[in-house]
Amino acid sequence: MATKTQVKNYLAYWFQLGKQVVTDDGKTVFKPKTVIQGDRFSAEFEQCWREILAASGRACHLEGTDQTVDELLSSAWDVVNCARCDMLVPTPEVPLDNVLCPCNDLPTWPNDELPQPRLPINSQAHLFVMSEKLKSDSIAE
Ligand SMILES: [Zn+2]
Repeated sequence: MATKTQVKNYLAYWFQLGKQVVTDDGKTVFKPKTVIQGDRFSAEFEQCWREILAASGRACHLEGTDQTVDELLSSAWDVVNCARCDMLVPTPEVPLDNVLCPCNDLPTWPNDELPQPRLPINSQAHLFVMSEKLKSDSIAE
């Protein structure tokens, strides 16, 4: 079962690639312009997330996926990293093979040239990850 934090992070990632969350009746669209502000989520994203949770009666889902947010929060689903692009993606607790990562209709993704969508992160920890990545890149070359 995915936790609220996992589902929130999942939406945060995909919002940063321009995906939106729509209600099943198509009437409401959630699409925060800014997701990260400094070392935390933006007020706009937090507001979106509250509205998505409040709207759980009218199910809503990330564009390009079939799973509603309330399904993700049920025991049937988990949120894991996509094997192709490493973004968070819904995965059934009981594996099926027809589940697609939302990256399936993004021809420009994954893209090493672009900054990877991220979560609010302590900048010291972030620098550590960056320097580790630089080290492993230079070893590879
Ligand atoms: Zn993917």
